[in-house]
Amino acid sequence: MTEVAAEPIAEKLAELNLALSPEIHYRLGTVFSRTESMSLEQAIGEKYPLVKACEPVLLKALLEREQVLFVSLGELSFQKTIVILTNLRMLLFSTDRKQIPWQPYWAIYYSQISELQPVFMEQYKILLKDGSKLKFNYFPWQDRQNFQPVYSEAAKKVEEEGLDPPVSQSRENLCSNCFATVPKEGYECEACGATFWTPFSLCLRGFIFPPAGSLVVRTRRAALIDMVLYFLILSYVIFLQAQGNLTFAILMFVLTNGSYGDWMYKLAKRGLLLKEIRLEKQAVN
Ligand SMILES: [Zn+2]
Repeated sequence: MTEVAAEPIAEKLAELNLALSPEIHYRLGTVFSRTESMSLEQAIGEKYPLVKACEPVLLKALLEREQVLFVSLGELSFQKTIVILTNLRMLLFSTDRKQIPWQPYWAIYYSQISELQPVFMEQYKILLKDGSKLKFNYFPWQDRQNFQPVYSEAAKKVEEEGLDPPVSQSRENLCSNCFATVPKEGYECEACGATFWTPFSLCLRGFIFPPAGSLVVRTRRAALIDMVLYFLILSYVIFLQAQGNLTFAILMFVLTNGSYGDWMYKLAKRGLLLKEIRLEKQAVN
């Protein structure tokens, strides 16, 4: 990793007319670090869109005096996930294909990480204190070079300071509205009163009418695609029924709705998905 001094990066950002939020404390040298073969402009060009896309969430999620050290987009258990290292903890944001952060969100204090293992090729495995594991099946090569040193330095500092906050699980769920921690198995945020879908309630909603499941937990774009696909399948079911293939039509209908309900169950199991926000405390989404 080549950590660049902050000043040339700030100058280059200004020269390229790229602004970062003055309210977020970045360590520019590691956020825009680069390999020997990369120019500063290339490093900024590759990283800036992702960093900028994270800012609306970071502004709400960061604690006082928390500094952003590293931002990357990898794949955690085959789901696109944004990884952020700060001077206090690791933040994980789900994301859609356009790299916009989207619920669920998680946080892991460094004291909860037992080991960070580089695995074969572009992968990482993170072993957590509660026995769970995070498996990155993809980690960009360039970021892979920087992840370990940035993490090690931050984790060491935190350990020296004796920062080991109590947790309900190593990877804590964050409220998608106010970004407070919601303890394990909790579906209501004590800080803002937001409620979240339980796996069963979301599964039921998805099983009864799949588009209704998508609409409440997916981005508008993803929900629209789900809806179009579902209505295409439904049209085919109606066509089969009209052709006299009633058994096959019923089987297809049940299988489609059943697999959708199962998918919704898994989504709600993975992390917190907003159900309702108290109107006076709306913060995001
Ligand atoms: Zn909340």
